[in-house]
Amino acid sequence: MIGIIGAGYSGAALAFNIHRLAQEPTQVLLFERRDEHGLGAAYSTTNPEHLLNVPAGGMSGLADEPDDFVNFLRRDQRAAAYIRGDQNIRNQFVPRMVYGWYIQSLLAQSQSPSAHGSVVETIGDEVTGVRNTEQGLLLHTQRGRVVRVDKLVLATGHAPPARGLLAEVPARHLVADPWNYARIEGIDRNASVLIVGTGLTMVDTVMTLAKLEHRGEIVALSRRGLAPQSHGSLESDDPAEWQAQRLRALRRKLCRRGRNRVESGGDWREVVNALRGKTQELWRGLNQREQNAFLRHLAPYWESHRHRIAPEVAGRIQTMIQAGQLRIMAGKIVNIATDGQVAAPVHISVRPRGSGRNTVILRADAVVNCTGPETNIARSTDPLLQSMLRDGLIRPDAHRLGLDVADDGGLINAVGEVSEKLFTLGPTTRGRWYEIVAVPDIRRQSHALAQRLLVPSARPCRLAAVA
Ligand SMILES: Cc1cc2nc3c(=O)[nH]c(=O)nc-3n(C[C@H](O)[C@H](O)[C@H](O)COP(=O)(O)OP(=O)(O)OC[C@H]3O[C@@H](n4cnc5c(N)ncnc54)[C@H](O)[C@@H]3O)c2cc1C
Repeated sequence: MIGIIGAGYSGAALAFNIHRLAQEPTQVLLFERRDEHGLGAAYSTTNPEHLLNVPAGGMSGLADEPDDFVNFLRRDQRAAAYIRGDQNIRNQFVPRMVYGWYIQSLLAQSQSPSAHGSVVETIGDEVTGVRNTEQGLLLHTQRGRVVRVDKLVLATGHAPPARGLLAEVPARHLVADPWNYARIEGIDRNASVLIVGTGLTMVDTVMTLAKLEHRGEIVALSRRGLAPQSHGSLESDDPAEWQAQRLRALRRKLCRRGRNRVESGGDWREVVNALRGKTQELWRGLNQREQNAFLRHLAPYWESHRHRIAPEVAGRIQTMIQAGQLRIMAGKIVNIATDGQVAAPVHISVRPRGSGRNTVILRADAVVNCTGPETNIARSTDPLLQSMLRDGLIRPDAHRLGLDVADDGGLINAVGEVSEKLFTLGPTTRGRWYEIVAVPDIRRQSHALAQRLLVPSARPCRLAAVA
């Protein structure tokens, strides 16, 4: 019996890969605390203007069937309303909710027994603790169930953002979880809104407000003020050009090749696209000091060029900037104050980037925290992670990007042993792979982990290599 905690894309993909690959009857229990399985943080939106940021041709959920999502779009009647007949489906950026329907359709297939008798059972409950006993792993749930499994996979995905300084914003003004779309939809149409963070979640928030015909001013703030770039060319340079090198050499080469490409009338995106399948290898080739330097100085630039948005979405954002409704600002929050009046806006003192010690005051009726998921599990308030950390079953990775994990997904415990029973995949493995958040990476990982889980355990534990 295999337990999977979390049924976003990672957990669902692992479940249907086990169902497809198992040659012997295998039972999978898939736990999800949300109302629906298969959607997770990314695909639970019902706003059709929240588009995928990868063209449909790159979004198959199955590693061994690259056209599976495109074929779904061709045959699914509900999806038909979101497909443009005048364009190649592969190049279209379809709504994320349509992708949710696709994952749910794959999951539904795996709930019937496979030819070899495997089946996935979905359970709507939150797992709050795990005990490693001689009888197996005992899962305790929020609704009081105790369930025994032989192997367990944490597919718990994205945590809500860290509050940091925003903890000082009164709750009535703060949207602490940017994926709580109902909270964003509840913002008054005339309110001045401060979005803290300028990445993909900021774009999502702006699109939600735009759909509601928001009239108030919106300011999006981050240290560097770097917003995601738009997709353009979908072509790729030669990936073979990229092998593991020192960070400084990689940076120089990337800038030079991008510049050369633009000067010769091409598109810098082709150079970034060539790195798509190479990023994990390049990350692993850096030593820990270089990885730290990358995270501190280069990651924001890389992310804004690498995780791009659909041209339609970029166009909407640009129009709002030109109309003066949206302002993207680089700066650091230095103080947050309120005058105690319920209806009064929050006063946020910001030191604009490059302005020395000068500050400006932003007045916001609503503040949306789009600073990105809290990745440091030592600061997590999640009952499951807290209890596993307390019991020494898990430990954070060296960069505090998630969980410490071996190459095969085996979780590393407090004393450095690699488990043969506890595994993880998806965003929790960022410390090891860095580029492991989007579907194209997780579909490979979920396929490999399904194969790994179907092999009988060899030893009770292995020792993790010293990082
Ligand atoms: C807003 C957004 C847009 C994105 N757009 C794209 C895109 O266009 N293209 C692309 O390739 N990638 C995209 N991604 C990235 C990618 O698809 C997601 O990162 C990926 O889906 C990760 O899924 P996950 O299952 O690991 O995490 P999550 O989606 O966070 O799912 C984890 C699930 O686990 C559940 N859970 C957690 N703890 C427990 C517990 N103790 N008990 C029970 N359930 C639990 C949660 O409720 C949640 O549903 C996007 C991501 C986000 C956040």
